[in-house]
Amino acid sequence: MSWQFEPVGIIHSCFAEKFAIPRQPLLAPAATARLELLPPYHQPEALEGLQGVSHLWLIFVFHAAASGPQHLRVRPPRLGGNQRIGVFASRATHRPNPIGQSVVRLEGIENGQLLLSGVDLLDGTPVLDIKPYVPYADAIDDAINPLAPQPPEAIAVTWTDAAREEAQQHQDRLRQPLVALIEQCLSQDPKPAYQQPAPDREYGVQLWDVNVRWHYPHSDQIRILSVRQAT
Ligand code: SAM
Repeated sequence: MSWQFEPVGIIHSCFAEKFAIPRQPLLAPAATARLELLPPYHQPEALEGLQGVSHLWLIFVFHAAASGPQHLRVRPPRLGGNQRIGVFASRATHRPNPIGQSVVRLEGIENGQLLLSGVDLLDGTPVLDIKPYVPYADAIDDAINPLAPQPPEAIAVTWTDAAREEAQQHQDRLRQPLVALIEQCLSQDPKPAYQQPAPDREYGVQLWDVNVRWHYPHSDQIRILSVRQAT
């Protein structure tokens, strides 16, 4: 059996690359995106009834996941990258069918496009379906997951004066909550869990059209060095 699907829309998000995207949605509320609906779903009829809905489920394709042989067990970054668990016990992007699902906040509807926040989606992600979040069915008070009992612990993020000033200027230009986005994403500690960063090693990521660079003065602390427009 096989099926073929066509995307109903494309995500335009703050995440220009996979590095530093939070591991799940809603961990970075300042991570915004616009979901461009493709014909015929860009017409108002397809969105009737969404007014007043606060959250949506997005079913999407991990279009930038590495291809390769499928494994029955994976090594999730959350567990430090060493421990293997069954693929169906993980949210890894490398899976039998490269399909992901995320709950995101619906901020508004503008010209047939959905304005979203709290996304964990790479720019360009194809969306296969959109469904309204149904609180009475989707929120389970006594749900348990021993491998992921709580959100990842945040680490401290500090700024140099110059980097904070640069970030504020780009925030004004982009009209996006860039300062909060940088703090929220970096406090998730994007580097691989097994890496012991030397204090003089610099890391970087592109968010929107700016390059953010930082280092680890101590292994549990990030200091942002610069926020410059990508060339
Ligand atoms: N919430 C989704 C789920 O549970 O199916 C995604 C979880 S997955 C662990 C989140 C990671 O997927 C992000 O940190 C990012 O690196 C990666 N990612 C996001 N969009 C992607 C895409 N279009 N292709 C490949 N990887 C993507």
